[in-house]
Amino acid sequence: MRLSGKTALITGGNSGIGLATARVFLEQGARVAITGRDQATLDQAVSSLGPDAVAFRADLLDPGATEAAIRSAAEGFGHLDIVVANAGIAGSTPVGGTTAEQFERIMTTNVTGVFLTVQAAAPYLRKGASVILIGSVHAVLGAPGYAAYAASKGAIRAMSRVLASELSLAGVRVNVVVPGATRTPIWSRFGRGPDGLAKLEPQMVRAVPTGRISEVEEIANTILFLASDDATNIQGTEIVVDGGLTSSPSGAPIYRD
Ligand code: NDP
Repeated sequence: MRLSGKTALITGGNSGIGLATARVFLEQGARVAITGRDQATLDQAVSSLGPDAVAFRADLLDPGATEAAIRSAAEGFGHLDIVVANAGIAGSTPVGGTTAEQFERIMTTNVTGVFLTVQAAAPYLRKGASVILIGSVHAVLGAPGYAAYAASKGAIRAMSRVLASELSLAGVRVNVVVPGATRTPIWSRFGRGPDGLAKLEPQMVRAVPTGRISEVEEIANTILFLASDDATNIQGTEIVVDGGLTSSPSGAPIYRD
């Protein structure tokens, strides 16, 4: 068991990557607190995850609620060893068709919400704790229509380095997992409809050298590595899980076929 005796907080633990990470952490012996906005999926998640999981409802757009949820989770466990600041939203913000509110909602959720999560958890982090932020390949892709989402994930990269240097003093590591396209509900959440991913996937995979998108377990297992004592001297860096999309695009089917 790689997380035996450890305690973990996972924001957005009621869906997608966060839920898969909660499952993997529990399998490895951790106690896990998850947060999210939707009470029904929080309840479903806790009943499927079992007795070592607890859930707290909190909207990242409400700093007071987020702080209270993190305080309750941390005080319930006594301390925190792992924080996965995973909750986030995607969204289309094309030039010429985006309001300030639409842009700011993405930035506030994905950047301010992540900062406030780490800040609220910091007093409870023990020496040796691991904080994992979730970036995105959009930070470097330049995909049209995603200015706010790309900016928010570029900010995660920049902010993680600052947090790593600040929290090093307390013996806390801060790293980023950078997923490429991964099979989660996020694809049906931002106006692409319930089969949004099904329509996009055949086109997207042509640009991926491995020829496929990621499954949630592949991201969760990378988060597990950074959370575990296998990564005790890895600080302030990123692990990209994108099938080579950003590192070796010339190997993609689009160039080979
Ligand atoms: P999902 O949509 O499946 O999950 C998102 C999670 O974030 C949900 O649990 C949701 O809770 C929570 N969340 C969203 N907004 C808020 C908020 N305001 N307050 C509290 N919780 C919130 O998406 P993924 O699992 O795919 O995404 C997880 C992370 O991975 C995100 O940061 C995303 O940007 C990143 N990512 C995902 C990729 C992909 O292709 N799937 C690729 C690259 C990065 P609730 O359901 O209760 O609203």
